[in-house]
Amino acid sequence: MNTVKSAQPTVGQTLASLQSRGLDRLDAQLLSLHVLDRPETQRGWLLAHDIDPLPPERAASLENLVQRRLAGEPLAYLTGHKEFFGLDLRVDARVLVPRPDTETLVSWALETLDGGHRVLDLGTGSGAIALALKASQPTLEVHATDLSTGALAVAQSNAQRLKLDVNFHQGAWLAALPDASESFKCIVANPPYIAELDQHLATLKFEPAQALSSGEDGLDDLRQIITQAPRHLARGGWLLLEHGYDQAQAVRNLLTQAGFAPVQSRRDLAGIERCSGGQLNPKPNP
Ligand code: GLN
Repeated sequence: MNTVKSAQPTVGQTLASLQSRGLDRLDAQLLSLHVLDRPETQRGWLLAHDIDPLPPERAASLENLVQRRLAGEPLAYLTGHKEFFGLDLRVDARVLVPRPDTETLVSWALETLDGGHRVLDLGTGSGAIALALKASQPTLEVHATDLSTGALAVAQSNAQRLKLDVNFHQGAWLAALPDASESFKCIVANPPYIAELDQHLATLKFEPAQALSSGEDGLDDLRQIITQAPRHLARGGWLLLEHGYDQAQAVRNLLTQAGFAPVQSRRDLAGIERCSGGQLNPKPNP
């Protein structure tokens, strides 16, 4: 006869107790699936197996992850991956967790690009933008840079695992390019843009500070990129930038001053102007 150890909580009891401790329902489900080695698509499995006992070693791993999540660590660092533009990316504390809002930038870049064009992603982090571009338009020649060697290691391993061919370069913004005369049809970047003293940074303390904050007004890196980009853009080339919720006007002004025209902004999923960009010399001078 089977005996059930009453001390061993079931899957259902565990989920209920995690929620009563303040863990978000979805996070509780995703962390439970993670320690059970089940894909995130199997949330239904948890419901169907709610009276299964949770083996003690799995319960111990889960407890460790729950404590880290309750302390504010991003879910993606705990599960080790994050979905972006339909790609499953591996992420860890060396890179910013890709945000769904950044998909706005990818969609905009794809509208400006066509087969064989050269495109550059500055500060690629996990490789999210560069890999999404290559996956969507395989004939693009995609280049990506990052100052952080740790981030480049993450991006490179994502590229290998997803079998996407991207050329990576280490260095500061456009100075990372091996050849000063390289020219692109489109340059994209999601640089750090949070003001140094912004209180929002406290909620992002697990992610790399160098990927998040940029000087007193948050615009230091955006200014550098806007200044450096024109000499690396083909005629009619585009510079498309992600920025903070209140920076659209400032970034449009910087783009206009640097000779981009027309300059425009795009909204993210929350309706906030999240990206601004412009085209360089679309028509030959008369
Ligand atoms: N949008 C992100 C946030 O506020 C920050 C990303 C960035 O600095 N590039 O959470």
